[in-house]
Amino acid sequence: MKWTGFFIPTAKETPTEATVPSHQLMIRAGLIRQVVAGAYTYLPLGYLALRKIENIVREEMNAAGAIELHMPAMHPIEWWQQTGRVEAMGETLLRLAGTGDDWRSRTVLGPTHEEPITEIARAYINSYKQLPINLYQIQTKFRGEARPKSGVLRTREFLMKDAYSFHMAKDGPGGLDEGYQKMYDAYCAIFSRCGLPYMIVEAESGPIGGDASHEFMVPTDAGEDWLVQSEDGSYAANLERAEVAPLDDKQGGTNAPLAEVHTPGLSTIDEVSGFLKCQPCQMIKTIIYEADGRPLVALVRGDHEVNEAKLARAAAVGPVKAAQPELIREVTGAEVGFAGPVGLNARVIADQAVTVMHDAVTGANKTDYHITGVNAPRDYQIKESADIRMAVEGDRAPNGSPLVFKKCIEVGHVFKLGTKYSRAMEATCLDRDGKVKPFIMGCYGIGLNRIMAAAIEAFHDDKGICWPISIAPQQVVICALDMRDQSVTSLAQKLHDEMEAAGIEVLLDDRDARPGFKFMDADLIGFPLRVTVGKRGLSEGVVELRKRGTGEVQKLPPDQVVAAVSQLAQEMLKQERTHTRIR
Ligand code: ATP
Ligand code: MG
Repeated sequence: MKWTGFFIPTAKETPTEATVPSHQLMIRAGLIRQVVAGAYTYLPLGYLALRKIENIVREEMNAAGAIELHMPAMHPIEWWQQTGRVEAMGETLLRLAGTGDDWRSRTVLGPTHEEPITEIARAYINSYKQLPINLYQIQTKFRGEARPKSGVLRTREFLMKDAYSFHMAKDGPGGLDEGYQKMYDAYCAIFSRCGLPYMIVEAESGPIGGDASHEFMVPTDAGEDWLVQSEDGSYAANLERAEVAPLDDKQGGTNAPLAEVHTPGLSTIDEVSGFLKCQPCQMIKTIIYEADGRPLVALVRGDHEVNEAKLARAAAVGPVKAAQPELIREVTGAEVGFAGPVGLNARVIADQAVTVMHDAVTGANKTDYHITGVNAPRDYQIKESADIRMAVEGDRAPNGSPLVFKKCIEVGHVFKLGTKYSRAMEATCLDRDGKVKPFIMGCYGIGLNRIMAAAIEAFHDDKGICWPISIAPQQVVICALDMRDQSVTSLAQKLHDEMEAAGIEVLLDDRDARPGFKFMDADLIGFPLRVTVGKRGLSEGVVELRKRGTGEVQKLPPDQVVAAVSQLAQEMLKQERTHTRIR
């Protein structure tokens, strides 16, 4: 491939709208161009890299026994209504703007494909003998993301590999656990082959549903997720999911008497703690939720936040949502902002950190009043307590090891779905005993665009991208300096042709431009290997071979270059796919 016969619109200036390195570099290297917020064109070089990622994903999925198909982006809304996800997905689910009951009003654009794949299973799979099966696709997803961000890391249209497995049992041969493990292992193989440093963490399943899930995370500052990891390396989870050890009872004993204080118009933790000169950690935050149509009260320390997923799990209820002011008034008998556990007549779940609080400050369930000196069990009973809050700096993992926080990008996610979708869509199958049972399902997603951006976040320097060779748009660039010199151009062309014939991906920079200019572009785009053919080198009988990552240079006689490049590329491929998992 020749530069002049290709299309690589590189740019010198850093685009002002791009704040994270991968976004800046992908634009500058001529890999992508924004069309509208959250949707990008992959320019030819960017598309080459994306296709290499796609190939790795496809090869490993096939090797794991998954079978490829292709589903459309357009789905009937009726299926999404059947699974209750029109409501659960909210604004994320994109719908066509139709009028009345026309086809547009009945069509959605798939943010994921559980519904259509479950319909396929329902239509074609009726015996346990056809199971287990794993069907996957590499296809475009649409999501009404509120804030598309950081280039292709979060977009409204993106490429996902999504796989769905079907089983009759949870465990045993052919069961969900086995199918899940196969995908987990395939994901390790995929991220290793992409040369990506990744971690595996326990995750929350969100609106996809299900009872177990893991996320594959690339630690980097550009990420929007936080993972927490125990210092001893035995525990790692998404912050949304992370469990914490109970806190010690540092104070012991009950001292102060209960007292009511007038706090007119002061209802937030900051306002009240400022006014009463106490620390937020001495206050009990009382939050009224609604779950399964009933009020549910959560108590957390003033400096802690409720984790609603943990709360719902601890209370064994459906999704919890913040109560409307009306319900709050009904439960507390006061305006919003003055709720407290003393004398409250509702189901209350206290965070485990609240159980060791003494002489606490909290709302009085009376407008404009708080109470101080609150102690359980003297002043209120803690009937239910659990870990229902977000982990914070200084917390410990359940085994007692301190937690460390890291920013990261989620590149892949595996879920055990169970029967959520098969029950909702009445997708059943005859088991070994002739009984009709719903399929037990798993689903497994990988964001291809995110792999690309995450790799750039992980591997770049002040000059540009340093691609892992496995997913670089091309493995080698040949910089032909002195394009007006016949000996240079003919050797550069010869090396290019020989490399192509040897199966090496190579781009010949045949532009009539200054050396510095060519080197800058080569570094910016980040070809893992650069071969320089110049008049000066040739006068000494050598060609230069340079590694982008380390800057290491070898000077070689021209007839040894192709073999050296081929060997080096093989070595680099082998080297980068080992040890990419971080523990
Ligand atoms: P996030 O929490 O980042 O919004 P998600 O958990 O909703 O992602 P999944 O439904 O698990 O995403 O989708 C599977 C994979 O698809 C993710 O692991 C990620 O790699 C990719 N992905 C999800 N949303 C986006 C997006 N808006 N832009 C690019 N890739 C995405
Ligand atoms: Mg996810």
